[in-house]
Parts: sequence; C-alpha cells; structure tokens
Amino acid sequence: MSDQTQKQSPATLTAQALGWVDDATRSVTPPLYPSTTFERNTDLSYHDGRCYTRADNPTYDQTCEVLNALEGGVETRLFASGMAAAVAILHALNPGDHVVAPKVMYWALRSFMLDSGVRAGLSFDFVDNGDTDQWDQHIKPGKTKMVWLETPANPDWQITDIAAVAAIARKAGAQVVVDNTVATPLLTRPIDFGADIVMHSATKYLNGHSDVLAGSLTTAKDSEFWQRVCKQHASGGAVLGVFETWLLLRGMRTLAVRVERACTTAMTIARHFENHPEIEQIQYPGLESHVGHDIAKKQMRGGFGGMLSIRVKGGEKRAIDFHNKCKIFKRATSLGGVESLIEHRSSVEGPTSPVPGDLLRVSVGIEDVNDLVNDLETALRLSK
Ligand code: PLP
Repeated sequence: MSDQTQKQSPATLTAQALGWVDDATRSVTPPLYPSTTFERNTDLSYHDGRCYTRADNPTYDQTCEVLNALEGGVETRLFASGMAAAVAILHALNPGDHVVAPKVMYWALRSFMLDSGVRAGLSFDFVDNGDTDQWDQHIKPGKTKMVWLETPANPDWQITDIAAVAAIARKAGAQVVVDNTVATPLLTRPIDFGADIVMHSATKYLNGHSDVLAGSLTTAKDSEFWQRVCKQHASGGAVLGVFETWLLLRGMRTLAVRVERACTTAMTIARHFENHPEIEQIQYPGLESHVGHDIAKKQMRGGFGGMLSIRVKGGEKRAIDFHNKCKIFKRATSLGGVESLIEHRSSVEGPTSPVPGDLLRVSVGIEDVNDLVNDLETALRLSK
C-alpha cells in the first residue's frame, strides 16, 4: 500500500479496492485468471513465483490486499468457506493443545470443535463471552495454545473485551483468533486490540449479497503458527475459487455503505421494539440494556452491527407464528446480505441448542427502515 492509500478511510479503500488500475489496459476492475497452472521458465523458476492455483493465483492478490488494509494485517488467505478458514486454524494446532472458546458462538463451529477437534486430540473449555475473569481462569499458561473469540457473538450478540483477553492470552503464550464476521473490520479491527489472526465468514458482510460462500484469515504477523495455517490452506485444498474471489472483491466495494445502513437501521429497530408490550427482550449491543454495551462502546466504532435478536412474548409457538407472518423479512439462515432475514434460531441449531425457543435472529439488510419496522409490527399484531 502506498503512503497515501494508508491514510485513506475504509470507505475509500473499499470503494476503490485500494485505487488499483491495471497497468496493461487501465481497467479499473481487476481481471480474472481462471488458469489453474502457470508456465515454468527454462531455469525451472516460475514467473511471479506462481506454479499452481491451489497454492496461489493472481486473482487473489487484490482481494487479499483489501482485507489486509481493512484489518491492519500483513497477509490474508482466502478459503472455500468461513468454516474451512476456522478448520485450517484448528488443524494448525497439535494433539494435546488446549483451546478456550466462548460458550456463545457460531454453533456449527462449536459442534466441530467438540466432535472433530476432540477426536484430533484437542481439549476445549467454553467460557462466558463477556466475563474476562472466566477467560483468565481457563487460559492455562503453557497448555492453552489458542483462544478463540467471536464478538458480537451468535445469537445473543454478547461482547468479549478483545484487548483484555488478548493480554491474558499473550502472557500464557496462546494465539488469539477473532471471528470478526459480525462486526466487520469497519466496526472493529481485532488486531488493533492485540489479536494474532482475524477470521471471517466472507459469505456474510464482506460479500454482502448472499451469493458467494467464502472465508478468510488475516494475520497480524508472520509466525510459525501462521506458516502451519498457510500449509494447511495450500495443501488441504479448501481454497476459494477464482470466480468467487472476484465476486467477493466486487461485493467488498460497497461494504462501507451496506454496513453503515445496516447499523443505523438495526439501531432504529432495536429502539422501536425495546419497550414494546409484545416483546420480551431485544438483544442488541447498541442498546444500553445489553449486557455487553459498555465494552461494545469501547471496541466498536461507527455502529453496533446489523444483527439483533428478538424475544417475543408468548414463547416458542408465538415466535414461530410471528416470523411466519413477516413478509419483507425472509425466513432464512445466514446474515450480512442486502436483504433482511429472520430465523427461528433454536430449531436451526437442533435439540442441544442453548438458544431459547422464543428467540428470532434478525439480519438487517438495506431496505427502507419504515418498511422493516412496519413488517415486524404487522407480524406481531397478526400473531397475537
Ligand atoms: N462464523 C460466523 C459468525 C458465522 O455466522 C458463520 C456462518 O453462519 C460462520 C462462521 C461459518 O461460515 P461459512 O458459512 O461461510 O462456512
């Protein structure tokens, strides 16, 4: 990145994808290189060092550079999904290593940790996201090799104090990895708070249009651990396709306007329904009533995200009926797209889910805020 680019705000960096213009053609969007293989020189070296797309491809360059710039990291790797990115991290650990993770986190990854992670010889402790003392009690110096954070965390949007937990982990010799999917680098840059690696389900806000499955890891520094992750990336083969990489960059160009809009609308919805007679609780870190609000204020800038959860009065049956009556909010899983989604979370997670039956997870899109509020109001009325 040039000195001038370094000073630009994320909105400018993303809109212009770092201001890149093709040297050969002056095109302002990058070309796509579908080739899986690259011709070798007669001295057996490779032009640009690239040999085979599983290891590297020029299409990755700009997307990775934009993510480096947004997260303040030195290297980014793109994966076939957010789960593939997370699993590459787990694979870089050794049997016997101990991991501390939040009790409330993306459920499929938690299940993977408890199933494949345990079978691979890892051990786990799960603690309350917002309780720094609990992290302190469970991070064991010399034994804990990784601390996994997700903040705000699915689906009650609890907040972890990244700086406080990272300081404890560093003293204990553990890597700190933060799933930054929900905050996005526009609201929180975990590396600024001491994280070693930032993970994204790029399927969500980074791409933003519910049409690409992708994951990313960005590291704060090169390290032996990061090199193991890179080996897992290239040899394990769960790399992102070049077409998806190109689409992801296109999606990231509008990240700033999408996130800003989602944050403002989510806050309006949260405030509108906070004291509503038919609502048990609104869980949104932007509300003073949210348990993690003070930490959120400290480590999130420019908004509190586009995710919130609604607990309706009347229990699970009413919650399901209410979400069935929504017309604009689509009944679907996932998050971070331009269209608003509503999801009955406990039935997605299954019988072992700790999520209460009256909880609906909402991903706020970029539609008109009044239409969204009216849709929820109407659905509440019809589901009485
Ligand atoms: N992390 C979070 C916070 C998620 O919400 C998800 C998916 O919903 C993932 C990770 C997994 O990402 P993917 O679906 O891209 O594999």
